[in-house]
Amino acid sequence: MKIAIVDDTLANLLLVRKHVELLGHTAVIAHDGAEALAVFEREKPDLVLMDVVMPEMDGYEAARRIRALESGAHWTPIIFLSGMGAEDDLKCGIEAGGDDYLIKPVSPVVLAAKIKAMQRLHDMRNTLVETTRKLDSANQELQRLSALDGLTGIPNRRCFDDTVQIEWRRNARAASAISLAMIDVDYFKQYNDHYGHLAGDDCLRRIAAALQGTLRRPGDMLARYGGEEFVAILPATPLSGGLAIAQQLRDTVKNLQLPHGFSESEKIVTVSIGVAASVPDFAGTPAMLIEAADEMLYKAKHMGRNQVLGTRCGVSPLITALPREAA
Ligand code: GH3
Ligand code: MG
Ligand code: MG
Repeated sequence: MKIAIVDDTLANLLLVRKHVELLGHTAVIAHDGAEALAVFEREKPDLVLMDVVMPEMDGYEAARRIRALESGAHWTPIIFLSGMGAEDDLKCGIEAGGDDYLIKPVSPVVLAAKIKAMQRLHDMRNTLVETTRKLDSANQELQRLSALDGLTGIPNRRCFDDTVQIEWRRNARAASAISLAMIDVDYFKQYNDHYGHLAGDDCLRRIAAALQGTLRRPGDMLARYGGEEFVAILPATPLSGGLAIAQQLRDTVKNLQLPHGFSESEKIVTVSIGVAASVPDFAGTPAMLIEAADEMLYKAKHMGRNQVLGTRCGVSPLITALPREAA
């Protein structure tokens, strides 16, 4: 341990330092209370051995100030070494923030035993601090993982549910439009049935990565909505922008050129996308936006799949279909 020794009498200082060093510890010294505070801040000792009667600032005051400096999260044991042996002196020392009180002349055996006891507390505290640090970082990792989908590594449904609420309110405050795109893989049941579930999983992973790579604005978010369905939140994006992004998302999946010999739309894996845009207000909820996007997705499926369909929801609904081969 690093032990600070505070005493205004040089002979005492040197004697205690000798004992401390014989026990294998490192000593730092201060000659009065004020210097003790400076040494404490500079050296950050593991233990302080503090004389009581000193000119200018006594040991009690120095201990009080050390406690004030530590601000709760930290604790350095302080043992008073004093010539005053009345019960009231001991009481004052403990009340000033001391952890023990020894009466001078202190026997080397008692000093060694007290230092050993403090060392135990010091080690235990360090273990506790380290355990808490590990727990904190494990908790943070757990929190991060609980927001991600296990298969694709993109944000999961729970994360989407939270984010869409936050974005709804944020865009309501800014009075700006928000677009939501529901993306569903076409004929994915057939894909699974013919290529197997593992190939299906791999296909979903590749689609997720491609879709996520297409979203470039920092506020945009892609999540796995469930099964072979994904959802993109596009803040500060009106319907025109939402449709343009959705078209890019659809093209991205097409460009992967994942063979799908059992799709009735093309011989590769394709997606259908329903887009809904609205300027949120505080009275409404994102549920209407999700429902509207879902409805557009349903219509896109019925109109032959592999296409984007969008609507503005709220005041004047307007359904917009993008031609299949646009862009
Ligand atoms: P549509 O074109 O109308 O969307 O038809 P579809 O076959 O894609 O839709 P349907 O809802 O009938 O089937 C979805 C399939 O997606 C069924 C299910 O087995 C598969 N699926 C859902 N989640 C997963 C997954 O995590 N891994 C794999 N491999 N398949 C999944
Ligand atoms: Mg599907
Ligand atoms: Mg589906």
